[in-house]
Amino acid sequence: MLKKIVLILAVCSLTACATSPTGRSQLLMMPDAQVDQMGLQSFQTLKQQKPISYNPQYNQRASCIANAIVQQVGGGSWEVVVFEDTSPNAFALPGNKIGVHTGMMNLVDNNAQLAAVIGHEVGHVLAKHSNERASQDMAVNQGLSIIQAIANPQSTMGQTAMGVLGLGAEYGILMPYSRTQESEADIIGVDLMAKAGFDPQQSITLWQKMDQATRGQQPIEFMSTHPSHATRIQELQQRMPQAMGLFQQAQAAGRQPNCP
Ligand SMILES: [Zn+2]
Repeated sequence: MLKKIVLILAVCSLTACATSPTGRSQLLMMPDAQVDQMGLQSFQTLKQQKPISYNPQYNQRASCIANAIVQQVGGGSWEVVVFEDTSPNAFALPGNKIGVHTGMMNLVDNNAQLAAVIGHEVGHVLAKHSNERASQDMAVNQGLSIIQAIANPQSTMGQTAMGVLGLGAEYGILMPYSRTQESEADIIGVDLMAKAGFDPQQSITLWQKMDQATRGQQPIEFMSTHPSHATRIQELQQRMPQAMGLFQQAQAAGRQPNCP
């Protein structure tokens, strides 16, 4: 374990230390273009394998909310796809790709709650969590060719690569993101939703609903590496004064997203 840490520190100091949007130092060894390419390919595979929802209300709603949020980070081209899946879940991939399950669309009871979900996923992408995961994996398992693996997503190696990108839960590998990364995505997400003009307090209601909806369903391994719902709620509550300030500024600036 110590050897691994020393290795990561050595690599980090030589080449690839970066700072995340919340000011945390990160090891990023992969070129962004390559990580984005992996994300695009994985998203393409998912779209072929998972049934896509053509419910126009769901799609308009998800796109409208995502648009309002990414405008706060300079816009750009983002793709949001609603998948037919009853589990209340969502995911993000590098290359600005977001997937939302119909189970999540059904769970939320207003646009601000969906904005909390999408803001969180955008947070994972902005903070380059996939690159960070892949870099840690490369530093620890030198020689594991993630890039080759992604070319063959059905292989064991390919599934490992998907897990590294943060798609683990989809493919039965636990721990797609770390506890630190989850908390960071929560913080970035709640700030973003507030800046876009969605009431950030709804992020807390969302996690309370998630807690009720998934009670007893989280595997133990998942819980040990992820913040519990209670921890998330507590962290969001700590962030709420700042987020409410951003929300009030957005309202004063007339940002009130009119999503269906
Ligand atoms: Zn997450």
